[in-house]
Amino acid sequence: MTAPPDLQPGIPQRLDSEVTRIVAPNAGMMTGAGTNTYLVGTREVIVVDPGPDDESHVQAISNAGAGRITWILCTHTHFDHAPAAARLKALTGAKIAVMSAPLTDHDCRLDPDRSLAPDDLIQCDGMSLRAVHTPGHASNHVCFLLSSNRMLFTGDHIMQGSTVVIWPPDGNMRAYLDSLRRLLALDIRVLAPGHGYLIESPHTEVERLIQHRLRREDKVRQAVLRAGEPATIEMLLPRAYDDVPKVLHEMAALSLRAHLDKLTEDGEIGCSDGRYSGR
Ligand SMILES: [Zn+2]
Repeated sequence: MTAPPDLQPGIPQRLDSEVTRIVAPNAGMMTGAGTNTYLVGTREVIVVDPGPDDESHVQAISNAGAGRITWILCTHTHFDHAPAAARLKALTGAKIAVMSAPLTDHDCRLDPDRSLAPDDLIQCDGMSLRAVHTPGHASNHVCFLLSSNRMLFTGDHIMQGSTVVIWPPDGNMRAYLDSLRRLLALDIRVLAPGHGYLIESPHTEVERLIQHRLRREDKVRQAVLRAGEPATIEMLLPRAYDDVPKVLHEMAALSLRAHLDKLTEDGEIGCSDGRYSGR
């Protein structure tokens, strides 16, 4: 995959007077052009999502930070977002802040200097970033709202150009929808996703994402009700995701499970021996 010029890995891209983006060299089906690392600030710099533990990427962050990096924040601890924190800390002496949670197979282990709680503020040099807890993609996922320019760093809660995978049990569809709705109440000007370009009109985009999930939930509900027999995930997948290319079905099966879990919890469908049926 060839990334567009402004999403080339390793090249700092100035987004406004305070924020610079550096894309990590980990392009792929799940990561798009690569993970976005953001550098926030002027006299002091806060890094949001240092990315994978890639030496060239960490060096690019350190060079762009030029001795001013004081904090390293992670939106969550998945392997494409957080492992570079340790190497970057060793190189710069900056402190690491992340929300703690039981680690899954998708998480790296970090030794944070600060464990974030919902609505915590990270402040330095007159800057203020608020941790907005947004579980759903991961239970310890937070977005960070920069007060000065109302930019929300969304990690994997919202991506540009692709749909976020919800992978149970740490991923949870009900929590994900609730977390999206929570953003509608915030004063946000622009979304800075963990993958892809900035997203303007944030509230319109969040509303679109909620509707997209609810439409999918309805397709899943209909697939169960029309199956004619208790159906497995494998049986439901081609019906509920008939509009999604087959190459993505392995990932879609994870989000399908998340939808089925939610419908089961809601009491709309039943589940017995891995088979789902209407009530
Ligand atoms: Zn993730």
